[in-house]
Amino acid sequence: MGCIDLHIHTNASDGTDAPAEAVEKARTLGLEAIALTDHDTVSGVAEAVRAGEQLGVEVVPGIEVSSDYRDNNIHVLGYFIDPEADALRQVMDWIRVERIARNEYVVNKMADDGFDISMEELRRMYPDAVLGRPHMAEFLVKKGYVSSIREGFALYLGEGKKYYLPKRRISLARAVDTILASGGLAVLAHPLQYRYPLEEVVEMIEYARSLGVKALECYYSEHSPEDERWLLARAEEYGLGVSGGSDYHGTRKTHIAMGRGMGNLAIPRRVLDELKKLR
Ligand code: AMP
Ligand code: FE
Ligand code: FE
Ligand code: ZN
Repeated sequence: MGCIDLHIHTNASDGTDAPAEAVEKARTLGLEAIALTDHDTVSGVAEAVRAGEQLGVEVVPGIEVSSDYRDNNIHVLGYFIDPEADALRQVMDWIRVERIARNEYVVNKMADDGFDISMEELRRMYPDAVLGRPHMAEFLVKKGYVSSIREGFALYLGEGKKYYLPKRRISLARAVDTILASGGLAVLAHPLQYRYPLEEVVEMIEYARSLGVKALECYYSEHSPEDERWLLARAEEYGLGVSGGSDYHGTRKTHIAMGRGMGNLAIPRRVLDELKKLR
């Protein structure tokens, strides 16, 4: 039985592979299917689907939407979405505008404080990227203000630091609605990564289910065997489906390999077949 990976980022968001490269990599690894799940964008989907048709890899059109739940950034995966759907476009536009406003505010504030930084120079350095804090941090490294991206976050850009300004997010309810209105299946991404105590994870799962979330991401590269068992049990208990993926980001997260759930356990094809039945 072949294997799959339903959580993959490309350079359409914060991964490093071009969409077609990610599909090629999947084929090299012998994966039967992948889902492209870039943060808040579907701009890589068309290229990946085309590459998938050429290379014989099934590519599920997807997205990973950032949303707000109790002031936390909760991620919802949308699979089988129509990338052209109006509902999706509207939300993606709002998120893009919000990101640009945040970037400009932060960069101007740093410039006011004497940093040699400007939006123009950032855009010149990263003409194709969805600009964000990782780019700002790398820029500070190149200019010699900090010695690493990590230090850029630790001193300036990380939560609670002087140049941290949170982006406003759509609500979890709106994120799920948007995925449903775009013909997609909504899946709660990595439920154990939000640093909630388990009782609160259960509350989140129940609430997400009430909104129309149909499955939990149970297989995940950062899950321990206990995490995985716990989530599979919750999926069973709440009558939810099971999903799984690596959260591959190319060389931006070198500890995550494509095609792997926790440890060496690969995710079987039937996980995708079962998800299709929940649409
Ligand atoms: P943004 O969406 O522009 O706010 O940037 C978020 C990105 O910054 C995420 O993809 C994270 O991977 C990255 N990030 C957040 N905190 C840190 C940190 N402390 N060190 C390195 N990268 C971080
Ligand atoms: Fe990411
Ligand atoms: Fe995520
Ligand atoms: Zn992700």
